[in-house]
Amino acid sequence: MRTRQRGTLIVALAAAALVAAVAVAVALPAGDAATGPLDTTMTTVAAPALVGESIGASVQGRSIELFSVGSGPRRVLVVGGVHGDETGGAVARQLLAYLEDHPEAVPAGVFMAVVPSANPDGEAAGTRANANGVDINRNFPSDNWADVLSEGDRPTDGLTGGAGPASEPETQALVSCLADDYDLVISLHSQGGIIDFDGEGGRAVAEHMSAVSGLPVQHLDYQEYVTGSLGVYVPETYGVPVITVELEDSVLFPGLRDALLTAGTLAGDG
Ligand SMILES: [Zn+2]
Repeated sequence: MRTRQRGTLIVALAAAALVAAVAVAVALPAGDAATGPLDTTMTTVAAPALVGESIGASVQGRSIELFSVGSGPRRVLVVGGVHGDETGGAVARQLLAYLEDHPEAVPAGVFMAVVPSANPDGEAAGTRANANGVDINRNFPSDNWADVLSEGDRPTDGLTGGAGPASEPETQALVSCLADDYDLVISLHSQGGIIDFDGEGGRAVAEHMSAVSGLPVQHLDYQEYVTGSLGVYVPETYGVPVITVELEDSVLFPGLRDALLTAGTLAGDG
């Protein structure tokens, strides 16, 4: 995964460099004041298009896809659909549709990756858990992982944290992609209409996203009873923040879209 992603990035960078070099070469004669106004269309550097790859497969064999666009040192991963009965997947797919038409919307210096459907079996069945009845957001290999969910969580829903840490293929796909040096992870859940954060630097990103989207920041203090979650695993393993957007509904409204697109400009500042 790491090699393939690096390869994609290198190809994208090489393509961008080539386009930039051609643009400079073409633009030089036009820069002569005597020839009139600069033709700005010649100096436009084409944004790299959205690139897709499979990062794994679900219990039932559905492909788990990662799409990426942009290039730069600030690396952001957006994850949707961890809980199959929520609207995060639908909103992530709307973000991808937008990026397909507007790859230039990713700010300069930001590499943005999107896993729109992290739990495709759960989405197909309309269930929170995957096909094994495991809550993927309780299956991450954090220090506090547990098979039986705690009293304060959802033990009566029949869900588990899995047979072991990262026992599920959906979790494994995310865990291996998370190892690829991200500076910020944004996870899309529902409901509530709030922006939560975990990890150092998370509050500043959450406040920026709140200002852009209009959704309030609310830090939910659930980490003492939630085990094996992405919000625990990523900060403790990589020292980077996780933003959890608890969506109101299944609509990627413009403010939310812009908050997701610009969050990466703060990535790596924490
Ligand atoms: Zn959720």
